[in-house]
Amino acid sequence: MDVRSQKTYEALFALEDLREILRETSPTHELNNEQSKRFHDILQRVKKTLEEIEYNKSGSEIKYLADRIELRLREEDHINLNPIQAGGRLTPEARKALIAYGDGYSVCDHCLKPFRLDYIKRPPVQEFYSELADFLNMDAVRVVKGARSGFQIVANALLDKGDTALIAEVGHYSLALAIESAGAEWKEISLDENNIITAENTQKKIEEVKRDTGKLPKLIAIPHIDYTYGNEHKVKEIADVAHEYDIPFLYNGAYTVGVMPVDGKEIGADFIIGSGHKSMASPAPTGVLATTREYAEKIFKTTSNRGDISGRSFGIKEVYLLGCTVMGAPLIAMMASFPRVKERVKHWDQELKKIEYFIKEFLNIEGNSIISELPRRHTFTKVDCTNSFDKVAQTHKKKGFFLYDELDKRKITGIFPGATKQLKLSTYGLTWEQIKYLTEAFKDIAEKHGITVK
Ligand SMILES: *Cc1c(COP(=O)(O)O)cnc(C)c1O
Repeated sequence: MDVRSQKTYEALFALEDLREILRETSPTHELNNEQSKRFHDILQRVKKTLEEIEYNKSGSEIKYLADRIELRLREEDHINLNPIQAGGRLTPEARKALIAYGDGYSVCDHCLKPFRLDYIKRPPVQEFYSELADFLNMDAVRVVKGARSGFQIVANALLDKGDTALIAEVGHYSLALAIESAGAEWKEISLDENNIITAENTQKKIEEVKRDTGKLPKLIAIPHIDYTYGNEHKVKEIADVAHEYDIPFLYNGAYTVGVMPVDGKEIGADFIIGSGHKSMASPAPTGVLATTREYAEKIFKTTSNRGDISGRSFGIKEVYLLGCTVMGAPLIAMMASFPRVKERVKHWDQELKKIEYFIKEFLNIEGNSIISELPRRHTFTKVDCTNSFDKVAQTHKKKGFFLYDELDKRKITGIFPGATKQLKLSTYGLTWEQIKYLTEAFKDIAEKHGITVK
């Protein structure tokens, strides 16, 4: 058994225990007898663990980091195909940030007037915000607690009771809830026969809402890539139609910002929303909300009320953001990943080549087909195995779980347990070696169960 991942955790955790002694004894770091002994014991343990890592030697591996909280070894020991997890895997820099900035309000160490997160210069939060706006080619940006929090901020600022907002037939549930939470109603734009949201269907729906309610929709929010098919929707054309009616357009980039190039001005987006934990190599909860000069004042509105007793007011705190948004480790980790994220979007074509290769091999398994649009414009892909693995499942004693088990044996994970008809997967971020291992594994499983492989 390969114990190196577990042992690496063991060494890291031991060093955290060591760090605790440094905290206990600050500022002098004069250790008493008990502390000296502990310090020494920990160092011995680390040295032993390092040796175990070097020689891949098992001993008594730890399983938990605290009471019933397991170590998470998914990314160290497996190929993880779960499409919602691929783009959110942390960079080593982000993991270091989590260790160093984990203390609660750590980011507030050097928060000076005007006391707002996006003005902090040390660490360089302010600079990060401005680079992030450039990265998206938008005028203003804020880091928020996930794409959903971005939706809610926009919905709160733009929608009133009785308003309608348009979303895609495959729009994310959190967008629907954000609209509902603002007291407005959401209506859906239907997919066309190719499972794509088009400008034509958008216009039809605008007209329908106008006819039925006597008012135009107040917002149109469409995913560039949806979570059901991973298909690319006609965001640029939809933005144009929205603007013909003077309706703001929200580009939902949960699956795009941070993995592929996104240019807000080129798209014509009034709002760009991204998900840090889905696509920006960041921990949860993180996301981005970017907008234009025109809308910045509205959605980043600052407080104007005054306390009737105290007379207090809260300066330039932004109302819909509840002042400061993402603090501490998640924000700093997102910043730490950013240089690599900026670089990786330039190599999106490479990622498409990998999914293309995977699909080509996958289709060599008789009965397999692809539900997502082809050629792929995203690595997140829905495949159909009704005429291959699902047939095996019909007579297998483990039913649909046989596929999950076979993949698991080969250290491949992230496929929904029990599913054999339609599977969602993403090859994002895998190396070519891993892609080849993956395709061989699928073919191997097929052959083992009597499915013809070309
Ligand atoms: C994942 C996803 C979201 C939600 O993102 P969070 O950052 O978790 O709030 C929204 N929209 C789409 C299309 C998604 O795929």
